[in-house]
Amino acid sequence: MKFKKQLLNTEQRGRKCPFSMKPEYITIHEINTNQSAETVARYVTLSFGKIAAHFFVDEEEIIQVIPCDHNAFACGDGPEGVGNRKSISIEICRSKAKKDEYYYRSVENARVLTKYLMKKYGVPLDRVLRHYDWTKKDCPHRMMKENLWQTFKCKLQEGEIQDEEFSL
Ligand SMILES: [Zn+2]
Repeated sequence: MKFKKQLLNTEQRGRKCPFSMKPEYITIHEINTNQSAETVARYVTLSFGKIAAHFFVDEEEIIQVIPCDHNAFACGDGPEGVGNRKSISIEICRSKAKKDEYYYRSVENARVLTKYLMKKYGVPLDRVLRHYDWTKKDCPHRMMKENLWQTFKCKLQEGEIQDEEFSL
């Protein structure tokens, strides 16, 4: 798995992640697309709106666009919302990939990233949430449709992550 930082520029940060943050939660999302993390990250970075997530994940790489000490407006719970102001948002790509394997590998990569972030920021398992848990939005759509969420959370308790995989 590759890890890339493609952080927002100053102007983009002013719109998409203006507040400093100490992460207390991790929120899992899905972009309902066949597109790669690279394509989605570029689209979100260049979009004029304020919505963005910290990380975009596909079957082969993780792309970070917002530093974890800044907020992201990804949870839909308003400008003062705890989701938008205290959680690291991870977008899983490929839920509409032609090969199911791409999606399931993307979910696994998101799990590895989540586990790493839990350790790094001291986020307990009960603070790893779905976008759904903040606002009842149907996100992450495919994970919920296929009942993958409980397995995803259980597997966060297994094994250890090698720190050298990341430099966040
Ligand atoms: Zn979402």
